[in-house]
Amino acid sequence: MSSNHKVLSGLGVGLEAVAAEVFRVAPAKPLPIPANHTGDKEAEMRKVRSAVDAVSSQLQELGAKSEETTREIFEALEMILQDEALFEQAVEQIDQGFEAGTAFVNAVETFAELLAGDETFEERIADIRDLGRRVAGHVHGISLGLDLPNTGSYVLVGEDFSPADTAQFTDAVVGVVTIAGGPTSHTAIICRSRSIPAVVSCQGAKDLLSGQLVLVDPVGDRVVVGADLSSATRALSFVSKSQEPLVSVRANIGSLEDAVTAATSAAKGVGLFRTELLYLSSKQKPSLQQQIDSYTEILAACPEGPIVVRTIDAGSDKPVPFLNMPHEENPALGVRGFRLIKEHRDFITEQLKAIESARAKTGRDVWVMAPMIASYQEAVEFAELARSLGEYKVGIMIETPGIISAIKHLGGKLDFVSVGTNDLSQYLFAADRMHSQLGALMNHWQPGLISALADIANLSAMAGIHSGVCGESASDPAFSIVLAGLGFNSVSASPSQVGQVRSALMSVDKDQAMLVSKAALEGLSAEQSKSLALEKLASFEG
Ligand code: PEP
Ligand code: MG
Repeated sequence: MSSNHKVLSGLGVGLEAVAAEVFRVAPAKPLPIPANHTGDKEAEMRKVRSAVDAVSSQLQELGAKSEETTREIFEALEMILQDEALFEQAVEQIDQGFEAGTAFVNAVETFAELLAGDETFEERIADIRDLGRRVAGHVHGISLGLDLPNTGSYVLVGEDFSPADTAQFTDAVVGVVTIAGGPTSHTAIICRSRSIPAVVSCQGAKDLLSGQLVLVDPVGDRVVVGADLSSATRALSFVSKSQEPLVSVRANIGSLEDAVTAATSAAKGVGLFRTELLYLSSKQKPSLQQQIDSYTEILAACPEGPIVVRTIDAGSDKPVPFLNMPHEENPALGVRGFRLIKEHRDFITEQLKAIESARAKTGRDVWVMAPMIASYQEAVEFAELARSLGEYKVGIMIETPGIISAIKHLGGKLDFVSVGTNDLSQYLFAADRMHSQLGALMNHWQPGLISALADIANLSAMAGIHSGVCGESASDPAFSIVLAGLGFNSVSASPSQVGQVRSALMSVDKDQAMLVSKAALEGLSAEQSKSLALEKLASFEG
């Protein structure tokens, strides 16, 4: 590769590279600024209805042309769009004087705020906001189509792409680069599922112009201007050295379906059962018996091994309707996770009782942990409550920087800790985990995160506490080697990544993993940490 080639860093999606001409997508025409209506509320309501119906039909058409993952997303979005509660919100906005387009955008914003904080829905927030733009666009006669070429081969470059955008991708789209977006953005999900090489969160791409030749090199987390495929970074191949992974690989679940899927993977148990998903849709608190029944069914379906159940991770930012949480200005920093104990001790107590009952019925090895613990006192309060109610192992999540130094005092009080790297990154870097322009700080190769992880693993080992990692970072096979090298005892990945993570952890021994994590700790940037770790890994080959 000529040294003149300009390298643009980002976050890679996929293992194949592609070289093709840039097709630059212009930013969508801005919507008119928020405005008031002239007084005819009925007419504004009719405009909202008809724009919602028009966008619904567009979604149906796009869905019909799409493959399964995208079609399912469209079906879910259409349901949200047609939700009467959303329309009512828009009517409230019209009552306050806003014209139809602004009213709908505001209504969607209120809705999106309610969903912020719940992982399953959070990833969809940008998509839901896009619905608002589309309805408002329709009200004002603005087209949000992409006009992509049908023939040839192009690398699509744009700010970020919504589901409606990605559904318009033609076969001519062979690569995608986005300026914004993060590892869990819609573009990343769709490109992964459609095997389109992509690099997201690539700031430097803002200067790319249509017609330029670029190499999209996801394994190298970069786009190289003017380079061809011969410069692509080789994907790592993990050659098994042993029959068992270096540390136990568990699966993350949130529902009965997930438990069933996880059981078909090679996971040894469940490292994170996100229980709040069971409560998001109920308007009334489920009875103790209902909770016992659902936990019993789910525990029985989980893959063999320990099952780590997390108590409800809700707050004003997560819409658990029966808890009646007040609206908060800054929900990520508000009353969420274990902080609910003040107002909702009864609910958390009942949940722990239900989990204990299901544990006793199924005979499974159940561990319970609380989310968002920020102080020694909270950790001890949870441990005492849980131990008074059941015979499970008891632990906490490490998601706030403030709890790290307390780990050394928690020996004998806790059986385990599990690191939620999604939230830990959010709080370490003061960066909203779903902010489309801050994806680079959510990169788990950030040295600041790796060094915090090293402290957590060391302090846990010194305190005699089992340590695991259950955030997204543990689903990255190469990073799972870093985690094992730092001293973590288990990792928990999305069911679809369990196989890859296991292969990675079967390809190295403990000393090698320690060398890899040492290399990663030497980086001054996420890119450098990753490349130092991968170089070290490659040095073991052959
Ligand atoms: C995390 O924060 O990394 C985590 C696993 O919890 P959640 O993603 O559910 O907030
Ligand atoms: Mg979390």
